[in-house]
Amino acid sequence: MKKLLILLVLLGMVAISCTNQVEKNGNPFLSEFDTPFQVPPFDLIDTTHFIPAFEAGVEQEKVQIEAIINNPEEPNFENTILAFDQTGEILRRASVFYSLNSANTNPTLQKIARELTPMMSAHSNWIGLNQDLFGKIKSVYDKRNDLGLNAEQLRVVEKYYRDFERNGAALPEEQREELKKINEELSMLSLEYGENLLAETNDFKLVIDNKEDLVGLPEGVISGAAETANQNEMEGKWVFTLQKPSWIPFITYSPKRELREKLYKAMYHRGNNDNDKDNKAVIARIVKLRDQRAKLLAYNNYAEYVIDNNMAKTPENVYNFLHQVWKPALAVAKKERDEMQKMIDTEGGNFKLESWDWWYYAEKLRKQKFDLDEEEIKPYLPLDNVREGIFFVANKLYGLTFEERTDIPVYHEEVKAYEVKEADGTHLSILYIDSYPRPGKRGGAWCGAMRSGAYENGEKIYPVVYIVTNFTRPTGDKPALLSWDETNTFFHEFGHALHNFFADGHYRRTSRDVPRDYVELPSQIMEHWAADPAVIKEYAKHYETGETMPDELIKKIENSGHFNQGFASVEYVAASLLDLDYHTTKATENIDVDKFEKEAMSEIGLIDEIIPRYRSTYFSHIFSGSSYSAGYYVYMWAEQLDSDAFNAFKESGDIYNQELAAKFRKYCLSENGMGDGMEQYLKFRGQEPSIDALLENRGLK
Ligand SMILES: [Zn+2]
Repeated sequence: MKKLLILLVLLGMVAISCTNQVEKNGNPFLSEFDTPFQVPPFDLIDTTHFIPAFEAGVEQEKVQIEAIINNPEEPNFENTILAFDQTGEILRRASVFYSLNSANTNPTLQKIARELTPMMSAHSNWIGLNQDLFGKIKSVYDKRNDLGLNAEQLRVVEKYYRDFERNGAALPEEQREELKKINEELSMLSLEYGENLLAETNDFKLVIDNKEDLVGLPEGVISGAAETANQNEMEGKWVFTLQKPSWIPFITYSPKRELREKLYKAMYHRGNNDNDKDNKAVIARIVKLRDQRAKLLAYNNYAEYVIDNNMAKTPENVYNFLHQVWKPALAVAKKERDEMQKMIDTEGGNFKLESWDWWYYAEKLRKQKFDLDEEEIKPYLPLDNVREGIFFVANKLYGLTFEERTDIPVYHEEVKAYEVKEADGTHLSILYIDSYPRPGKRGGAWCGAMRSGAYENGEKIYPVVYIVTNFTRPTGDKPALLSWDETNTFFHEFGHALHNFFADGHYRRTSRDVPRDYVELPSQIMEHWAADPAVIKEYAKHYETGETMPDELIKKIENSGHFNQGFASVEYVAASLLDLDYHTTKATENIDVDKFEKEAMSEIGLIDEIIPRYRSTYFSHIFSGSSYSAGYYVYMWAEQLDSDAFNAFKESGDIYNQELAAKFRKYCLSENGMGDGMEQYLKFRGQEPSIDALLENRGLK
């Protein structure tokens, strides 16, 4: 087996030197990285290396796959499945490009990205629709039970087979052609949907020329609006847009009810203005084509096709789950509504609360009830302390230690590198932390791997992991002080990092390869430790005095955690159900989108004062790109798991319970790609997750 792999690699290398002009020694991606822990040699990487590296990588993988196809031996696990699992090492190294393009891009990298997109999608189509390769994989799949394979190997075979099958590779040629046409039209429609939405979002402007209309808004928001006005050649005025940093503060803080209404309605009419940017016909066509696609692949509907691959297994299971949350959430939301109406009445408002009033009155109520001021919390959350708090939790749970390394190349001077070690001192991973915003870094926070943990020829390959965030920078002599939200985000992303550190499947397809409705369990569970009063006391220390956050402040954070959760849960579940309804509907011929949405929402009894988190014509999670179609539910599904899993620790009386931590690591983080999601969870917990923990967590019970 080893011999074959060496041969494959040699074949690949020969092909590269024939087809590529770039000298092997000059391009660091063409050979193994010669750095400590084989991290990417950022100091040697030049932007001119990327395209030749990807070209060489595609060529190498093609040669490797052709060698599998042309192998005259009978297909077996080693010469087909394992060989396929290991193809593409140059592409794996070159993929550091994508990490850089997100965290530290520039016009040159962006141009390269545009060049790479068609090249890489052609390559993945060549693999995914390759009948000869599928034939080899199928022949191993068909006799998989007679090959003496262990459970993990069986799972690898089945996973690869299913990838091809779900792509339509098992269909007769005529139907494969049909599927191809559907896919092409779907990708155009998805693009059109996104472009319409972008145009509709950018077109709207709320122009204010009377200073009095700015009452109640924070200073920073006002100056931002003045800046936007300047950019639009409206000096001396203020412009508010549908971009979140402009829209949210306005509807949260402005007491001007008519203006709130105007801005709010503009948001929820996007893509639904009966103009040339209208998305209703696009949605109807997408829904119809997805249904056809699912039926070609022998599923009853598109939701069945998607969820079959997930932990939830069937749309019915997802419906049942969401309805269990819906009922109590709606009851709590109604109470929240009544409380706000009372406030309006007390103030002599003389009007009925509407959806464009909710954010404003919720904020007023929050201040009144909890008296919690973000500025009061921040001095206790210097970034360095929060990071040490995270390392502390990882140490208490798993014995990990973290050592800063200054001898490792980084891609930006602000990036810090750490070596992560096991309790016994052995190497586990490299972790980069890249904390602050800068031009060239996209917004938000994320975690990824520049090299995934794996095995090659039986030898362990250690992961190289990164966390990228956009936290508030240090100012003057003040260190970076995090908000409560940012603190949670840091713990969350570190949870994804732990998943990367520990993933230990023997094959790429069984290492950290988990269904979409499982992915947020490792991350979201860390937020429970972040918010545990005993943990807060470990890391929340005042940056000037070193004083621990007072109990009274911790209590305020705890209490306000349940605030407005009726609303948050209702708008989320409503959108999730709408998503499922579209993808299970029998009425797929030219759906009347307005009518469909209205009926779906009235069927579940959504109240007028709340609209779904996303309405159909701007639900880009499910219609622009397909990554969350029939899958918007996944965040809450994972929340059921993380709430229940953390409860196991709490019930044991020790949030650092070693036995539970070891089980969680083994079954849920290390080996989770090796078995079905629920089976793995059961091995950790001994019972299916109960919905109660989630409901309690959100204050719905
Ligand atoms: Zn996440």
